[in-house]
Amino acid sequence: MAHFVAGDWLEPADGGSLPSLDPATEEEHARIARGSAEDVDRAVRAARAAFADSKWREMPPSKRARILHRMADLIDERRDNLALLETLDTGKTVFDSGRIEIPLAAEILRYYAGWTTKLEGGVVPLPGRAMGLRLREPVGVCGLITPWNFPLLLAVWKVAPALACGNTVVLKPSELTSLTSLELARIGAEAGLPAGVLNVVTGEGPEVGRALVEHPGVDKISFTGSVAVGREVQARAAAGLKRVTLELGGKSPNLVFADADRKAALRGALGGIFYNKGEVCAAGSRLLVQRSIYDDFVADLADACGRMTVGPPLAEGTRMGPVCNEAQYRKVLAAIEQARTDGARLVSGGRDLRREVGGGRGWYVEPTVFAEVDPDSELAQEEIFGPVLAVLPFEDEEEALALAHRTRYGLAAGVWTRDVGRALRLARSLRAGTVWVNAYNLYDPAMAFGGFGESGFGRDLGRAALDAYTETKSVWLSLD
Ligand code: NAD
Repeated sequence: MAHFVAGDWLEPADGGSLPSLDPATEEEHARIARGSAEDVDRAVRAARAAFADSKWREMPPSKRARILHRMADLIDERRDNLALLETLDTGKTVFDSGRIEIPLAAEILRYYAGWTTKLEGGVVPLPGRAMGLRLREPVGVCGLITPWNFPLLLAVWKVAPALACGNTVVLKPSELTSLTSLELARIGAEAGLPAGVLNVVTGEGPEVGRALVEHPGVDKISFTGSVAVGREVQARAAAGLKRVTLELGGKSPNLVFADADRKAALRGALGGIFYNKGEVCAAGSRLLVQRSIYDDFVADLADACGRMTVGPPLAEGTRMGPVCNEAQYRKVLAAIEQARTDGARLVSGGRDLRREVGGGRGWYVEPTVFAEVDPDSELAQEEIFGPVLAVLPFEDEEEALALAHRTRYGLAAGVWTRDVGRALRLARSLRAGTVWVNAYNLYDPAMAFGGFGESGFGRDLGRAALDAYTETKSVWLSLD
């Protein structure tokens, strides 16, 4: 498939292409354009021109809203096709793509469609014969860079608020999972977005991503991905003093107290790490369990984990599909090996299932649980981004909080307890952008999402994202 630029498909300047591989078979199921700096330049120019001619920016807000609503409706209408593409690209089960993620993408567009008519400024009290107006204006051209774990969903997290605020965008999806982002561009054009408002350039990070970050025609970069690349993105964007939002990794603690509803906590612990094969930035990958229930809880976890069906993601009844790509598959297996070497106790899983489940093809890994994990070991400190859970015991609330904070990240945390006071104390003191109480991995368009510490800064979703895509302008009026 080609890039989508200025309202039309654009062949890459140097004619290069890249394969899209199906993680369940390791076979090529599509090809995408391999972009270059020249392609990025064409897309940024298209976005700049669309911003300058102000068709979109000055379109009546209710009309902008109708277009975003139409995009949401088209996503719903094409749900099955989008879910299939998403599953072929990522290996996530078709239940997760079709029933959870594609519908949520549509809801996010609807949420931000509602904001187009409510982006008010204000009147500021000033001394003397003067009046102040506070106006909210779009930032300009936004470069949006997304990872491979939730391709359409994370594209919409960024595209929807950016467009609602009147910006124009160049989206660069992960080279591993670009298909649904290209479909989003098609949907936008069909829904009535003026040409150049939503452009998509596919290709590799060091070429396309970097060219976008460095392009002088881009005003803002919103990046979701790894810490290492996020750091580089920020450094390069600094040269042009671009606005930057970074959503990076995590090693999120999920705290289970002895007084918790055990069944619910077990479900939350499993969903927290194994949803989408653990390829979730907010995955509850460090499970902290109070000592008095620790042994029983670990035994229940091992039992439930052993019963989880790993299989082809398009098959009904599959609970967990293959890891998204080969590099990630190798990384997960290496992390399991390292954890064994470091002396953690393997209580469930740990095996490479490529042969057993895929017949020698497909990046399948068994859902894996390690207990008695050293809090300073790699398994407890490094983001694996795979189906591997580290379980650690704690004595009391104080120790739970100290262990929870023994990380450089701060994306999310979970607390399982029936004690309201403790739940609220921890919700307040945990250094994380999201805290779930007696729940895990819940998302809503209205709830802001982002990190503390090395998990990044700035927020996607909710009202907070509107700040990320607008500038405040102060207007002074003399009343003389
Ligand atoms: P990645 O950092 O390798 O790539 C992310 C995106 O950046 C891709 O589109 C990639 O092509 C691009 N890129 C790579 N090098 C670049 C460069 N030099 N300049 C500009 N762009 C470049 O991450 P990934 O492997 O695709 O995704 C996994 C990571 O994403 C994990 O660390 C995960 O925690 C994180 N993530 C975070 C969130 C969040 O909201 N905080 C959500 C999902 C994933």
